[in-house]
Amino acid sequence: MSYHILKNQNIVSFVQNIPKIREYFADERLISKEIGDGNLNFVFLVQSEKNPKKALIVKQAVPYLRCAGESFPLSRDRMSFEIRALLSYEKLTPSFVPKIYHEDEEMSLVVMEYLGEHIIFRLGLMECNYYENFSEHISTFLAYNLFHTSSLHLNSYEKRQMMDSFNKNIELCKLTEDFVFTFAYMEHETNFIDENALEDAKELFSKMEFRKNILKLKYIFMTNADTLLHGDLHTGSIMVNEKETFVIDPEFAFFGPFGFDIGALIANLISSYISHFYRSGDEKYQEWILKNIKEIYEKFEEKFLKLWDAQKKSSLITSNFIDEKTLDEYKKDFMQDIFCQSVGFAGCKMARRVFGIAGVEEIRGLEDLEKRADANKKALKIGIKLIENYENIKNQKELIKIIKEFS
Ligand code: ADP
Ligand code: MG
Repeated sequence: MSYHILKNQNIVSFVQNIPKIREYFADERLISKEIGDGNLNFVFLVQSEKNPKKALIVKQAVPYLRCAGESFPLSRDRMSFEIRALLSYEKLTPSFVPKIYHEDEEMSLVVMEYLGEHIIFRLGLMECNYYENFSEHISTFLAYNLFHTSSLHLNSYEKRQMMDSFNKNIELCKLTEDFVFTFAYMEHETNFIDENALEDAKELFSKMEFRKNILKLKYIFMTNADTLLHGDLHTGSIMVNEKETFVIDPEFAFFGPFGFDIGALIANLISSYISHFYRSGDEKYQEWILKNIKEIYEKFEEKFLKLWDAQKKSSLITSNFIDEKTLDEYKKDFMQDIFCQSVGFAGCKMARRVFGIAGVEEIRGLEDLEKRADANKKALKIGIKLIENYENIKNQKELIKIIKEFS
């Protein structure tokens, strides 16, 4: 169907014309409303009037930034990459993404399962909720998707074919290059600097050695086409309840470095940890967050290596090319690199939230300006430390030690 922007008034008739969705609702009367709180796209909830639990989500990209309006154009192609990533996730890890009912790249639109009994993970963390299965779930999501879309699993032809279908996500990759790896560390008109943080900003913006490491990490981001990434795996892109975990919103998806999604997640957990000094003061909960950071990486590594051990042949390793012992050493170095990279990316993801365009709600939303400035100072200190030392921080224990020492 040729592209047109859907409004709340025509969503119902639109979905009723899709056979699979008509079947899902069994011809019941439908109501719809817009529920999106995101910055980029329109998200509508379509429900059966009689049985509101029977519901689906319709998400559509418009050719501009939703929060800024038509004067900020942004190609709606981003939805094609979101659709393709969701379909890949659905194939590899169906329990961790909403079920897809309909997708239409022409219309820049996807219809998916409504997660009505789940909340955005960031909000759950702000409310000190415990999610005991989270590290188990997200480590499986990461290990399975990162492994199976890499050259450790796909053959050369499949890998490059797949890369080809994500290669044009240029605008969103450029947003990351600018806002995660550049502007937040220099004087820039898009920055957001509290009055009482001017000195800290000045100090950060004068660090030249530090910028060398930013460039190293940015270069890895720009050139390492290891695997299919979500590209924006912060705690606002995950929906949870006590039993289940779902990843949403992969519109930044592209082929990038193994450590990028893991780093994003770790950074957001550290931000939440810091925010609780000023929000709940709940030390037990903070310990739970740190335990999760540790478990996520440990479990990811274990699961990733298990998949790799079971993979006897790949585009990287021809059979009989290397003996078991040497291969084990190679794998150890390989995993060490992923860990170090994740730490570096976590540092960037933290530091950029301090003065950059987009903060995290748990810190930027602190109303008391002194508390906000203190929380930002801690986030900045940890971010800088991780960026400056990412090549030398060897394991989770060392990472946790730094988080504690600088907060
Ligand atoms: P954007 O790309 O604009 O950031 P998101 O995919 O993050 O859009 O969706 C915006 C919001 O809509 C989410 O924060 C969440 O509250 C809600 N939402 C999105 N998808 C679903 C879903 N499948 N079920 C329930 N709520 C959803
Ligand atoms: Mg979003």
